[in-house]
Amino acid sequence: MGNNQINGNEHIVRDLGNNFPDGEKFFGLQNIDNICYSNCIFQAFYNCEPFKKKVLEYKSNKETKDNPISLLQEMFQEIQFSKKKTGVCSSKKIMKYVRKGNPDFKGENHQDCHEFSIWFLNQMNDILNKKYTKSKINPNPPPKNQPSWLEEIFGGILTTQTTCLNCQKITERDEPFLDLSLDMVSNSSLTYCVKKLSEIEKMSGDDKFFCNTCNSKHDAEKQILIKKLPQTLICHLKRFKYDDRLNRMIKLFCKVAFPLELKLTPNYIPPDKQNKHDLQTEMNYSLNSVIIHHGQGLSIGHYTVLIKKTDSWYLYDDEQITQVDEFQVYDYFGSNNNPSCAYMLFYQQKQDE
Ligand SMILES: [Zn+2]
Repeated sequence: MGNNQINGNEHIVRDLGNNFPDGEKFFGLQNIDNICYSNCIFQAFYNCEPFKKKVLEYKSNKETKDNPISLLQEMFQEIQFSKKKTGVCSSKKIMKYVRKGNPDFKGENHQDCHEFSIWFLNQMNDILNKKYTKSKINPNPPPKNQPSWLEEIFGGILTTQTTCLNCQKITERDEPFLDLSLDMVSNSSLTYCVKKLSEIEKMSGDDKFFCNTCNSKHDAEKQILIKKLPQTLICHLKRFKYDDRLNRMIKLFCKVAFPLELKLTPNYIPPDKQNKHDLQTEMNYSLNSVIIHHGQGLSIGHYTVLIKKTDSWYLYDDEQITQVDEFQVYDYFGSNNNPSCAYMLFYQQKQDE
């Protein structure tokens, strides 16, 4: 521990002076081989208290070599237990594991930080779920339907309800998620994009629905509903989409305003209207990390992350960290005149006040 640390960010100690928040640590991450895409994800993960706590408490299973949780733990420990308040860390060991496990992240190409985030979380979750499998070391595993701690933090459930327009029968399918991917609606808000997710979609023509009750294909209505919201909601704004006309991926710069405080209510209602009392009520969230994509497209550009600590905001740009005013967070809603816009948002459930 500590051997990766190099000096840096002393400026923030100077800038903050007597206002240096108690118990806080400011550690940047080295950028070798264009890894700003993973650096900003690791910073957002570190800033997610329940997640950081679980990673730091994690006891590794010696059977599992190349364990992403242990590697992340090593980096988190380096920051958490450093005697210094500021510094720079390296994610070299984790990135070695990443590149071995997924050739897509090899080389020095600019990558999609959302793809990286979801891949890394799934790798971690696979390890956590292994303990639910019967094995020599674990002959009596706990029931498989029990969520892992990672699912308890980031996991939510979307339910797709399909109504056959011939017999009116409703078919349901649950889809667990670790983050919520949202279609962009120009000049709208995050709440509107979430609402849009549940817009009723007609299934007809070539897209008819096979109804098990009628045992034949029929016109149907499909709706995606939120059944369960997670403790920490990661929203992914789909800013990159394939343009058929241009034959390549393009970036959408459009404005989607997002709030510092977010209230969301699951909109799922069981078809028989029974067990309604089991449904989750309103969730109150507070924004604590914003990943920003700078640049014209997916294959070029840069990522930074806005991090909220003790009521102040800081911009993490690989090794460098600077304090910013809260209103500067609004500069990243998106606009055609600004190539820098929010791409991923981390909302933390508010503690009861
Ligand atoms: Zn039917």
